[in-house]
Amino acid sequence: MTERFYVTTAIPFVNATPHLGFALEIVQADVLARHQRRRGAPVRFLTGTDDNSLKNVQAAEAEGVPVRELVDRNAAAFAALREPLALSFDDFIRTSSDPRHRPGVERLWRACEASGDLYRKHYQGRYCVGCEQFYTDAELVGGRCPEHGTEPQPVEEENWFFRLSRYQRRLRELIASGALRVEPASRRNEVLGFIDGGLEDFSVSRSVARSRGWGVPVPGDPGQVVYVWFDALANYVTALGYGTGSDDYQRWWAGGDRRVHLIGKGILRFHAVYWPALLESAGVPLPTSILVHDYLTVEGRKLSKSSGNVVDPVALAARFGSDALRWWLLREVPRLGDADFTVERLAARSDEDLANGLGNLVNRVVAMVHRYRQGRVPCAAAVPTGAERLAAACQRAPGLVDEALEVGDFRRATAAVWAIVEEANRFVEASRPWELAKAERAGAPPERLDAVLALLLGACRLLGEELAPFLPAAAARIAAQCAAGSGRLPEPAPLFPRIGSLEDAGVAAGAGRPAG
Ligand SMILES: [Zn+2]
Repeated sequence: MTERFYVTTAIPFVNATPHLGFALEIVQADVLARHQRRRGAPVRFLTGTDDNSLKNVQAAEAEGVPVRELVDRNAAAFAALREPLALSFDDFIRTSSDPRHRPGVERLWRACEASGDLYRKHYQGRYCVGCEQFYTDAELVGGRCPEHGTEPQPVEEENWFFRLSRYQRRLRELIASGALRVEPASRRNEVLGFIDGGLEDFSVSRSVARSRGWGVPVPGDPGQVVYVWFDALANYVTALGYGTGSDDYQRWWAGGDRRVHLIGKGILRFHAVYWPALLESAGVPLPTSILVHDYLTVEGRKLSKSSGNVVDPVALAARFGSDALRWWLLREVPRLGDADFTVERLAARSDEDLANGLGNLVNRVVAMVHRYRQGRVPCAAAVPTGAERLAAACQRAPGLVDEALEVGDFRRATAAVWAIVEEANRFVEASRPWELAKAERAGAPPERLDAVLALLLGACRLLGEELAPFLPAAAARIAAQCAAGSGRLPEPAPLFPRIGSLEDAGVAAGAGRPAG
């Protein structure tokens, strides 16, 4: 697997600081990037912020601060997720200030124009600023936005339009054939259904007045500003220097092998319909995969700023550690269907899996190697009898992880690794190394206990490797615990704190509660 792999998150609006829903997406993208690097692929992982939306302008007006000040402050909060969430992104683009962005948007615009796909027309519609999109009456629920439950504003103006209707057949073919892969399948069907319903041309600009002068001016038409989605989607190529002539564009996009977008279900249409159509029009290759996640709720309520129950991922990571937070996001959130977050669930999952299941296993195995072999790693040629299931779990895990991550199924991927932990713990109980040690002292040969310890330590080392994309910090501790650098393993040390006891001590009180 040495294909060049490019992975992106959506770029969030910066009208507020990051919430847990974005943490889910960026942790998922991080897992894909780390996984591919471990398998030897050259990887580029991009994230960033959508600074140019009207929503940001309105948030700044509400706060009474200049737009620049608000977007700079909030964009910094997104970039600062890196450490608390243990992220490994290679690049971070900001659409309002990155010198690579505007020339790329302009080039994309000119390319669509040259294809004859842009035209001006008078337009009337209903616009949700929260979504930054127009809605038809049929799409509204009781006259309200299906995402926000708010009434869209009537807008009437002369705008530039993109001839999306021209691309209906082509898009259908690309998605149905899998040339542009949309996962999971239910999301692919949703896109196909939308395309089959008929694609209408869509507005790709707004007046300077309505945008308050914020955003990228339309090339050759300074009275108009490029529609924020046209502008935002372009970040996936502008960050690679599409408009500035950098080699990165050739390396990771035009000549790259895998171009993967991770997104939430609410912006599927923009990524699986509008974006590929714009690229087709501009003569630019399409993404190869779009992986779609569902939403998180918190204590049963939708996660959004307006609903007042934002959960701060930085505060959660500070209280429980990046391992516990990442593990909940990756292990608990299903492929389909919204997942409900509570601090209790995070704590329970961490204690049960990390402290009890994984931490105990590694600790026990290292302690036994010390107790029975003075810390020296025993050699063994064969798999001991009774260890078939553990050996099979170890053998199958890497392939299963590959398969699951290919389609963005993080729960299935972690389950494959978790099978090793379960089988290893079972094997400790079944093989009873302490009795083998007793038998040795009574004169039995050492081969059986050597083989048992060697297999268990091998399983722990494999966990250190296979968990690295999911739990980078913990995996490094496991690897260090199982490495016999000077001929002996280091003394066993606990790998994970028990969160339950932190909570008893009042340390975690209040984390994850509705912000009010
Ligand atoms: Zn909306």
